[in-house]
Amino acid sequence: MINLLDMTCEEVTSYIISQNEPKFRGKQIYSWLYKGISSFEDMLNIPKSLREKLTENCTLGQLEIAEKFVSDIDETRKYLLQLNDGNYIETVLMKYHHGYTICVSSQVGCRMGCKFCASTLNGKVRDLTAGEIIGQILAVQNDLGERISNIVMMGIGEPLDNFDNVMKFLKIVSSPDGLNIGMRHISLSTCGLVPKIYELADEKLQITLSISLHATDDKMRSSIMPVNNKYNIEKLIEACRYYIEKTNRRISFEYTLIAGVNDNRETADALTSLLTGMLCHVNLIPVNAVSETGFKKSDRKKVEAFQAQLEKNGISATIRREMGSDISAACGQLRNKKLNQKGWT
Ligand code: SAH
Repeated sequence: MINLLDMTCEEVTSYIISQNEPKFRGKQIYSWLYKGISSFEDMLNIPKSLREKLTENCTLGQLEIAEKFVSDIDETRKYLLQLNDGNYIETVLMKYHHGYTICVSSQVGCRMGCKFCASTLNGKVRDLTAGEIIGQILAVQNDLGERISNIVMMGIGEPLDNFDNVMKFLKIVSSPDGLNIGMRHISLSTCGLVPKIYELADEKLQITLSISLHATDDKMRSSIMPVNNKYNIEKLIEACRYYIEKTNRRISFEYTLIAGVNDNRETADALTSLLTGMLCHVNLIPVNAVSETGFKKSDRKKVEAFQAQLEKNGISATIRREMGSDISAACGQLRNKKLNQKGWT
């Protein structure tokens, strides 16, 4: 079966032409995919014979909502979605004053091994296709009944470890005939796959690149993020400078504060030395305690002091609002629970 969500409008059109149908049907069918329909029968302006042919050979790429949790605190919604092959992924919806932001997964599991992260505990199962990333947005948008305007690629998986499918996803999701979510409304977060950052820079997209930095020296970073053994901080920062030069976009550095590990004043000053002069912003995240990892959250005072120190040094920094803390909204937690229930681990 062909998942039509894996295709650009041009590809749907070529497919339709290959089925001896008129070209204009391509765009018609493509735009139906994004209107929240549940079956090909709902494609009202498409002749019955073609609808039947599509039903036989194609799918609308729908993902099933296996579980859904809505936070009592801030309306954050967390979804456990089931893929066609039975695998589970997580998707989170956050409500901000400027609209809805969805956090999508890019892989089933992750092979990066960051020590504080729940998504990587059981390794990577497989990459998601472009259509499966799109499918997350459609599933949540249909459930919500409102338009989602912003995307962050910060769910399960390392997006740059699934580069081609993620590039295709970005192309499809920003298409005016489809979801039409502009590149400036999309953030992509990476743990620092340096060669892929160069490749991404050369694409010159207007997305926001987030770098999961989390530490200021190689010893500390390697101890919590194995990727640093391959691409150290110096190489990473060099790649970031290249990215900024190519795209003129401000980079966002994610810095997770872990009690007693990386949350002292000296570290704030070391972070300043690393980033001074760069077009960037620091996003401070109090670590979400995941029981398997043993890391503890820095207390609020420490987080605020860390931010104040950066600001004093001229580095723009904000503290990430914690959302959905009552519903295990930290990525990977829900899927792990499901795996444990099933006795898969
Ligand atoms: N693989 C990508 C994107 C997924 S993780 C990346 O590494 O950037 C999204 C962000 O959440 C990353 O900055 C990641 O380091 C952070 N993160 C993971 N586990 C966390 C936890 N327990 N508490 C706080 N942040 C966490």
